[in-house]
Amino acid sequence: ENVKVHRKIVVLGSTGSIGTQTLEIVDARPENFQVVGLACGGSRLDQFVSQIRKYQPKIVAVSDMSKVQELQTLLKDLDYDCQIGGGEQGLVDCACFPESELVVTGIVGCAGLIPTVAAIKAGKDICLANKETLIAGGPVIAPLVEKHRVNVLPADSEHSAIFQCLQGVPNGALSKIILTASGGAFRDTPVEDLPYVTLKDALKHPNWTMGAKITIDSATLMNKGLEVIEAHFLFGTAYDNIQVVVHPQSIIHSMIELCDTSVIAQMGWPDMRLPLLYAMSWPHRLLLPYSSLDLVKVGTLSFKEPDRNKYPCLDLAYEAGKRGGTMPAVLNAANEEAVFRFRNNEISYLEIAKVIEYTMGRHEIGLFVEQPSLDDILHADQWARSVARDFSPKLHVMKHSAVA
Ligand code: NAD
Ligand code: MG
Repeated sequence: ENVKVHRKIVVLGSTGSIGTQTLEIVDARPENFQVVGLACGGSRLDQFVSQIRKYQPKIVAVSDMSKVQELQTLLKDLDYDCQIGGGEQGLVDCACFPESELVVTGIVGCAGLIPTVAAIKAGKDICLANKETLIAGGPVIAPLVEKHRVNVLPADSEHSAIFQCLQGVPNGALSKIILTASGGAFRDTPVEDLPYVTLKDALKHPNWTMGAKITIDSATLMNKGLEVIEAHFLFGTAYDNIQVVVHPQSIIHSMIELCDTSVIAQMGWPDMRLPLLYAMSWPHRLLLPYSSLDLVKVGTLSFKEPDRNKYPCLDLAYEAGKRGGTMPAVLNAANEEAVFRFRNNEISYLEIAKVIEYTMGRHEIGLFVEQPSLDDILHADQWARSVARDFSPKLHVMKHSAVA
């Protein structure tokens, strides 16, 4: 065990699944981590206030401006100095807080883009959970990371696995990434039954407990599609060399194949604290009292090809990734809106993919930008949201899938 780790961290999205698990790690290793900033959307203010009282950060923010005053009132009796902010500027101030060295991005969705860009420009290392940010902003984030010489440490379990496997691998030796997928809530649902599945069905993930948006993305396999793009931007691997394999047990979190055909896998119980911990303590390893992986108890590790008919979102993601430019931002924004509409009972499960396909098609003939600036990406994101919100998918026939 290495005790050299002492990091002052900012947690964006502290009230969510990633955020609370990050704080559990801080609880387990208070000598290694100190929370100096916390931010969230603002919907769970009581929980946020308890976190602030417990961790005593020096800066906090809620993105919902209408909640700032309430937060100030709730924190009136705080007996130390704490800067309270709101809106995008509040999030950016947290992300750039001078005392911190590491920003954990646990915000859900593209709302994390501007704070993450600001943190990189301020020279902070990023513990990246918020994948939507990298998927939409990849073309601008990758060069920024280079320029400001910061580390982007993946917290997504698959990318953490790849990153762990890559330690010590010589440059140029990586030939392929094998991303494992649990298969999500409908792994064992026959294709013919998909038109009738409900929101409640989609929210039942077999192996992981996560926020609602990513749980639905897991059911459609869009989560894996987004992770393919995330892997491309993190590791520079060509899309044709990123393979998705369904692995129902979620014990192997991903694999890499090297030029000599040797394959390295990373294993562990499906517990997000493990990849989070590694991202927070890299390149060190910290001692934690978690239960050991028991392969005899697991018994079987199995693998199969994802069914492209059942999961049209996976091909849409590959297509957007290969097209590059603003297309991944459009895929992501259309997906966020489609998932929102599905959660709102406006569209059915199978219509999620239709909304995304339609929006991408419209973008191709309209506003596509090959080498986008941050403004181009933000513009494409907003444009795609409005298209995806207004589109009525009832009569749309998909070219990607036989299901709908
Ligand atoms: P969640 O819904 O549980 O939490 C989201 C957090 O973001 C909350 O704190 C919320 O207040 C905050 N938030 C929402 N909208 C915001 C806004 N506009 N501005 C600022 N904050 C806002 O989500 P989650 O499951 O923790 O996922 C967070 C991110 O991590 C997602 O990008 C997801 O894809 C990624 N991720 C999550 C897991 C997991 O196990 N939960 C695994 C891998 C990757
Ligand atoms: Mg993942």
